[in-house]
Amino acid sequence: MGPLADISSTALLLIQNNLPRDLTWPFLLTTLALGIALWALRNGRGAKDATGQEQPAATLVHFLLPYDIYSHVSARVDVSLYVFERILRPLWAGGLILAVGVTAETAIISSLVDALGESPSLEVNYAWMMLYSFVTLLLYDFIFYVIHYAEHKVPALWVIHKVHHSAEVLTPLTRYREHVLEGPIYAAGSALAYGLAGGVFAWIFNGGITQATLFNIGLFSLIFGFNGSFRHYHVAFHYPKWLSQWLHSPVMHHTHHSYLEKHWDTNLAAVTSIWDRLFGTLYIPEKDEPTPWGLGPQTQDSYRSFWQNTTGPFRDWYAMASGNTIKAANPLAGGASSDRSRDSTH
Ligand SMILES: [Zn+2]
Ligand SMILES: [Zn+2]
Repeated sequence: MGPLADISSTALLLIQNNLPRDLTWPFLLTTLALGIALWALRNGRGAKDATGQEQPAATLVHFLLPYDIYSHVSARVDVSLYVFERILRPLWAGGLILAVGVTAETAIISSLVDALGESPSLEVNYAWMMLYSFVTLLLYDFIFYVIHYAEHKVPALWVIHKVHHSAEVLTPLTRYREHVLEGPIYAAGSALAYGLAGGVFAWIFNGGITQATLFNIGLFSLIFGFNGSFRHYHVAFHYPKWLSQWLHSPVMHHTHHSYLEKHWDTNLAAVTSIWDRLFGTLYIPEKDEPTPWGLGPQTQDSYRSFWQNTTGPFRDWYAMASGNTIKAANPLAGGASSDRSRDSTH
């Protein structure tokens, strides 16, 4: 039996693995502490305003919590979408994650047993645990990349993901701004990654391996949790260029949310730059490059309120099914890959 299939620990483990997506105080506090450090290092510069432009040197409070961002209708809609998604989440989360994770893990273990025989039962040490974390991270990042890429390129999926991109300002809660239909897609993807990596390592170590931890948090969860919190913060946090070639710096997600054409479909992975580099979608922005957020002036009006965002995909699907293409509903939308308007491909 592998770690996910072990009945007694499965539920706990999966909930734990699912934690990085939750808004937790340590990650918010880390974001705040780093924000203060950046403010001090750059003499009050480096924060962006609600239009995605660098704002002039600001006082600490204005730098960390600018009024134009936190009073924006987009920030309020972030809260409603977050609450709505959390209320519905228990309906599907446990069952779906368990089914996908356990199926993937069991399938991997039995095919390894078929192909290579019984587990070699290697002895676990910290280096192996690090490797297990690293492989899980890479696999998770890859599956995230594939799902995200498809969401940007397939018009019927883009209308779901559009809700995340309709954010006109970035706040740590924007991370959870998604349509209720999007949560299950990513949850299944992450369960698949954990199941596949878990299956391979469970076979090698006869089920006896766990991920490496730091301060009792999985290394993977730590990196993912930090990255997710800061990349939806309005402060531009650049890494040195060489590091950005390997890891997404938080500001690289600012360009992902920009409606400027040169930024479309870039930086699609969750944590590393490896997959974006390999598939040619990596974009490392210049220092304080403007990144106006959202869907663009022509489409934004139909994806602004909570209600518009919640019904948006159904509205767009209906338009597509009636053969009108989304153009009928939104002036910028083409719904075809030949039309590279912001609305049809992001
Ligand atoms: Zn996206
Ligand atoms: Zn985002």
